[in-house]
Amino acid sequence: MAKDYYEILGVSKSASKDEIKRAYKKLAKKHHPDMNKDDPDATEKFKELNEAASVLGNEEKRQQYDNIGHSAFEHASKSGGTGDFSGFDYSSFAGGFDDIFEMFTRGFGGFGRHSQRRGDDLRYDLTMSLEEAAEGAKKTIKVRKHVTCEACSGKGGTGVKTCDTCKGQRMVRRMQRTPFGVFQTQSVCTACAGTGETIDDECNACSGEGVRIETVELDVKIPIGVDNGTRVRVSREGDAGPRGSPSGDLYIFITIPEHPIFERQHDDLLIEAPISFSTAVLGGTITVPTLDGEADVKIPKGTQSHTIFRLRGKGISDLHTHRKGDQFVKVVINTPDHLTKKQEKALKDYADLEEDDESLLKEMVSKLKKGFK
Ligand SMILES: [Zn+2]
Ligand SMILES: [Zn+2]
Repeated sequence: MAKDYYEILGVSKSASKDEIKRAYKKLAKKHHPDMNKDDPDATEKFKELNEAASVLGNEEKRQQYDNIGHSAFEHASKSGGTGDFSGFDYSSFAGGFDDIFEMFTRGFGGFGRHSQRRGDDLRYDLTMSLEEAAEGAKKTIKVRKHVTCEACSGKGGTGVKTCDTCKGQRMVRRMQRTPFGVFQTQSVCTACAGTGETIDDECNACSGEGVRIETVELDVKIPIGVDNGTRVRVSREGDAGPRGSPSGDLYIFITIPEHPIFERQHDDLLIEAPISFSTAVLGGTITVPTLDGEADVKIPKGTQSHTIFRLRGKGISDLHTHRKGDQFVKVVINTPDHLTKKQEKALKDYADLEEDDESLLKEMVSKLKKGFK
């Protein structure tokens, strides 16, 4: 008589799917054949666990099992998993398997970092001014990261050997016989924690990891032309890899706060410059700020408000092409809200000679009408 699946997993008949998953994970870890090399029954126990989990972990199959019991699965079991599921719709079970085996391969936790055999990439957030971005900058930053352990030169200890269990492959493959066929599963080698190596005498300073956490100061160069949101990659300055494997990269994420004067549009800059009514009418020269000092802008006679002038090459160098952008100057006619008596008289005298607003409006309306013809 086959063992009760609920008993195998040590859960009650009313256990939730989560409880079943948790129970499976815990037991799979405990009974993993790699961890129990001296126990000849480990493989059998492990198989049993997988079978129980594959049924109880799937709602439909669990229902079948609750209703009919083992007999629902025995036929397939005897057929040795050749794919003869007589009466069972395989497709409806497939999801349950994927779920379980994905959990099995990835669910052990704690080994993930080793299995990649390269240090992690790191992120550092750096805020800098527009001026710095335009000129390029050298910054000293502090980064908390894995560094190579000096005590063991990153080796993790003495007597480092290729893992016997996985032959240095870091993963183990196993044929899994289930009621629904033979599946090949792959999982992180637990004998070497997925490193592909075992150590006779682990380094005390780093517990065999080959790395230690430290805060280090780094001098980094921020290239000319970075923008808000640019990522600057500093190669090999991420976490040191475990046991002498390569380091990850460090990514510096740039933030540039809004500038009080300059508005940036890619490599171009835009400023608004107030000009007087008389300069707009009579023409003249104004002096405006740029990122490298001041520059003159010639205002022609009869300039309208919001006209934009271009200062070539006064923008920012492109990060990649190094081509310089331009600075645009939008002139805005300033209407004075306070006049001296003398100014007011002059302006009134001018107003007497001016075209009145009514005729300006008429002109506009006639332009509009022409436009519709
Ligand atoms: Zn191994
Ligand atoms: Zn060490």
